[in-house]
Amino acid sequence: MKFTDLGIIEPILKALQDEGYTHPTPIQEKSIPILLERKDLLGCAQTGTGKTAAFTIPILQHLYNSKNDYVGKRKVRSLIVTPTRELAIQISENITAYGKYTGIKNVVIYGGVKQAAQTNALRSGTDILVATPGRLLDLISQGYITLKDVKYFVLDEADQMLDMGFVHDIKKIISKLPVKRQSLFFSATMPNAIIDLSGKILGNPQKVTIKPKQATAEKVEQAIYFVSKPNKPKLLIHIIENNPNSSVLVFSRTKHGADKIVRVLGKSHIKAAAIHGNKSQGARQRALGNFKKGELNILVATDIAARGIDIDELSLVINFDLPNIPETYVHRIGRTGRAKASGIALSFCNAEEKAYLKDIQKLISQEIPVISEHPFIDDGIEDAPIPKGPSKNQKKKIQRRSENKPKEGEETNKKKRWRPYSKKRR
Ligand code: AMP
Repeated sequence: MKFTDLGIIEPILKALQDEGYTHPTPIQEKSIPILLERKDLLGCAQTGTGKTAAFTIPILQHLYNSKNDYVGKRKVRSLIVTPTRELAIQISENITAYGKYTGIKNVVIYGGVKQAAQTNALRSGTDILVATPGRLLDLISQGYITLKDVKYFVLDEADQMLDMGFVHDIKKIISKLPVKRQSLFFSATMPNAIIDLSGKILGNPQKVTIKPKQATAEKVEQAIYFVSKPNKPKLLIHIIENNPNSSVLVFSRTKHGADKIVRVLGKSHIKAAAIHGNKSQGARQRALGNFKKGELNILVATDIAARGIDIDELSLVINFDLPNIPETYVHRIGRTGRAKASGIALSFCNAEEKAYLKDIQKLISQEIPVISEHPFIDDGIEDAPIPKGPSKNQKKKIQRRSENKPKEGEETNKKKRWRPYSKKRR
């Protein structure tokens, strides 16, 4: 199937051609016809599948076709809510690219920066608003935005929203939307909390599922290095030195760990930068911009900061730590091997992380090949027993806790909980 078979209007087809896209990805092929018919959609898919174009193309088309239905200043007729600043910026850039011949305008707003530039952009009106939840509610309460004209609503990366503690913000946003609208809901995973939330947003949705393992794991060449914790930095330096000029995205489980990796690499004269929730928005954008332009070869990121980052020509992903949530592994390796490209993902696993490896392999239904010859091999690790992970009940508790707890990387609108007394110890 080609894009020309999907009923897409000429100005958008022309922009897709400029991007070099000829054939729709599976999610685009399935979703675009449903969305052009103005039906609600529940999409189980992650970034890297071509999801953004799947939802932005039909929205652009609807807005273009109803361009003459109103007069005066542009009104927010489409709202796209996404969890992180990086994703918001990326979606906005995609809309600008796909919509460049339509005359449809988009504005992006996110927290962590002064609001003046954003409120100025809003003042002259916009057709599409891309937003993170905290800043959106903030600007609504200040009277800069109204959602009463929204006809097309997208909730992107819903599972990530819940992980970051945005559930109440999302419910508040939904309560401000007109009842009559088309709603699109995307999530990489579909646990019960997500299905409940989708029920509050969608009418009678069509469902489209693009499994992550089909989308990424197949195309990405993966390998495991069994290596002790103290040897991980040495192995990282060894791999980077053996892959000169490659752009490498290194994942760290913690912000502190990410900074430490940058310092260790610096001591070996390897230039790297970290992006995580404690870095200012300016520093994050600068590091990411330099990495995308190829001026910086090594970027070290935590999961939340790197979520959805789209980098052309990313040759290598290195999991310095294995993630404790198996789906996160799929997200991480999905940063390489985007759309039709292929990529390489290497993971470092110490004895304590073997339980995580077991869960990951179960999720992707693949045994990841082990690189058994490297200079920092520690024979004990490969044969070590798998540590016992948390029980099913403990896992549920962890999941519940993470659904309510805001994490790094985003602003929230929540006020600090009032405590009747302080627990200071003397
Ligand atoms: P997304 O899942 O929206 O983050 O998209 C992943 C990557 O695939 C991005 O780099 C897009 O620019 C690219 N992409 C999206 N649709 C297509 C397509 N039909 N053909 C080729 N590349 C695409």
